[in-house]
Amino acid sequence: MEKAKFGVAGFPIHFFEEYKKREYIFQWLEQLNLDVIELQCTYGIRMKEEQANLYRDLALKHHIMMTIHAPYYICLASMKPETVKRSQLEIKKAYELAKILGVNRIIFHPGGGFQDRKEGLEQLIAALNEIVPELDSSIHLYPEIGGKVNQLGSLDEIIEICKRVPIAYPCIDFAHLHARELGSMKSKEAMIAVLDKIESELGRDKLLQTHFHVYPVDYTDKGEKVHKAFGDRPEKGQLSLFEEDLEYYPRAEDYINAIKEKRLEPITICEAHNTQDVGAILMKSLYQK
Ligand SMILES: [Zn+2]
Repeated sequence: MEKAKFGVAGFPIHFFEEYKKREYIFQWLEQLNLDVIELQCTYGIRMKEEQANLYRDLALKHHIMMTIHAPYYICLASMKPETVKRSQLEIKKAYELAKILGVNRIIFHPGGGFQDRKEGLEQLIAALNEIVPELDSSIHLYPEIGGKVNQLGSLDEIIEICKRVPIAYPCIDFAHLHARELGSMKSKEAMIAVLDKIESELGRDKLLQTHFHVYPVDYTDKGEKVHKAFGDRPEKGQLSLFEEDLEYYPRAEDYINAIKEKRLEPITICEAHNTQDVGAILMKSLYQK
């Protein structure tokens, strides 16, 4: 089993306070004793091959793993056939980039665009399975829990996709789950229940390879509102709609205790607001305690 790895989503603001050139991210992460960067290709797969080769070499040199977050506009449940085609193409492009970078995890949002939820999910699964034969099966595709209630990406929907698409594995964004379930992830036990469900429905192997996003979040009755930093407390008079507690959830301690109790050594990406590095370091130190 590989050791648990912790990392950042995109390039943290603290990195740019020290460096101008993005290729220094790998040595910066190594100095911080972090392990992963999730490259945010959220507005398109645009990296040039030369840059991808450079990243691969530097990542190897500094022992940093990379993952790819695919573009936000991927929308396989869309009612517009041209949007579905374009989304399939974008996933294929992400696979091509992953191959050059040496990446074996691509994360994407199941998204919206459907009229009927069930039909949307069926269409998404069919659209993925249509391109599976063209994709390198050693690179896994991770549908992520959606932050908004009206988007696909409930826990059940993610499990359904991972049951029926052979290269699909769950990306459990505990903040998104907390937001879309209006405050469900307030304890270690709540998180363990999610992990147990994945294990019983998809098997231990898919649980072992599950990808995690962890950071606190604020939300409304429609789901995710804004990412927070660990330890953030609402200012006086600014309690969010459902937040009667003094700290935003989910909490790093609950998550680390949950994965320890389930004997997992996963890859965990922190998307905390402007403090991805701080949050990842916190989680790693709790894990190593
Ligand atoms: Zn995401």
